[in-house]
Amino acid sequence: MNKEVKICQSCGMPMTEEEQFGTNADGTKNEEYCKYCYSNGSFGKDETLEEMIESCAPFMVQEGDCKTIEEAKEMLKEYLPTLKRWRNTR
Ligand SMILES: [Zn+2]
Repeated sequence: MNKEVKICQSCGMPMTEEEQFGTNADGTKNEEYCKYCYSNGSFGKDETLEEMIESCAPFMVQEGDCKTIEEAKEMLKEYLPTLKRWRNTR
């Protein structure tokens, strides 16, 4: 009960399954980032925060977290900078 859900520290996606974890260069799991953001020891894309917001927003609408793209972008603008990957940028 009450198992802590890990949140990808790049895109904010909750990782409920171990297979959603990213992978390190040595093939072990990386529990800080999801497999979409981080695999084989590096980020798949060298995105900026703005690009990440653009690519995540449609998913949030799709998942029902937000009603519109604009609303999703506003939330991501507040939320993503609190995550580890973005905390030290800019
Ligand atoms: Zn991610």
